[in-house]
Amino acid sequence: MVEVVKIGVIGAGQMGNGIAHVAALAGYQVTLNDISSDNLASGMANIKTNLARQANKGLISHDDVEKAIKAITTSSDIAALAEVDMVIEAASENAETKKAIFKTLCPILKPSAIIASNTSSISITRLASSTDRAEQFLGLHFMNPVPLMKLVEIIRGLATSEETYQAGLEVTRRMGKVTTNSEDFPAFIVNRILIPMINEAVYTLYEGVGTVDSIDRGMKLGANHPMGPLELADFIGLDIVLAVMQVLNEGLADSKYRPCPLLVKYVEAGWLGRKTKRGFYDYRGEVPVPTR
Ligand code: NAD
Repeated sequence: MVEVVKIGVIGAGQMGNGIAHVAALAGYQVTLNDISSDNLASGMANIKTNLARQANKGLISHDDVEKAIKAITTSSDIAALAEVDMVIEAASENAETKKAIFKTLCPILKPSAIIASNTSSISITRLASSTDRAEQFLGLHFMNPVPLMKLVEIIRGLATSEETYQAGLEVTRRMGKVTTNSEDFPAFIVNRILIPMINEAVYTLYEGVGTVDSIDRGMKLGANHPMGPLELADFIGLDIVLAVMQVLNEGLADSKYRPCPLLVKYVEAGWLGRKTKRGFYDYRGEVPVPTR
């Protein structure tokens, strides 16, 4: 089996910085890459804050924090990934963006390097076919926030080799995660179920059945969900929610997956949730205030 020592993470957004965090804590040498140097800086700042929080809670030692921070280097140049044994791609949820990344990445990588995508919904087989190593390609779908959430969905594309799958299992096990296997179908298991529920919550809002507050309170207290669906949508990012609905709609061609027009409107406004400080709630003040 390929021995993974060095991991490259592409995308330093909420998922990428979380993956770099858990990889560094697990003892891997990590190179974090993003096209935006601002996002690289804010991603690294997030990692430091989150590691300090874990240390203050007594979950890890201050020595672990120091070691993890030292294990991560950042670069906006993809060529910095030349020596890694595995790349985990966590760039924006857009098939063309991801394919363009793989096109530049593959000639730089070692022939033995494995590529994993953290895509929430795009076909692993299709992404793999845009690389020069479909057998060494798989889906590792981490959950948000990565340092806290236990699960990683593992998705094998049509060509993924057993060795690549085993390497994915080993890396995620070392990161302290529990895995579940999903076949390569649109949105896999967790998002196939979760995202249409969120889309339905947005329809409920759109049709005036309830306000943001009544919908979220209803699902928190009525279904025992730790977060209401609209609060969760803001947490995930409304652009990601919409992208997953579009993949389901196109991939399964069933009208029940039609993205709610109100969700589209919020994304068009750039109200993407917590990351842009406005979504179904406004986060610019001390406490989140519903926007409808
Ligand atoms: P995000 O918007 O927070 O971060 C995406 C990052 O990718 C940005 O920093 C952006 O600058 C960077 N990027 C874009 N193009 C790039 C390129 N060509 N090269 C390098 N970096 C590039 O998004 P996110 O929420 O972290 O999502 C990232 C991936 O993880 C997506 O595929 C998403 O579907 C998946 N995912 C998201 C969640 C979630 O809850 N948000 C959960 C699981 C998986």
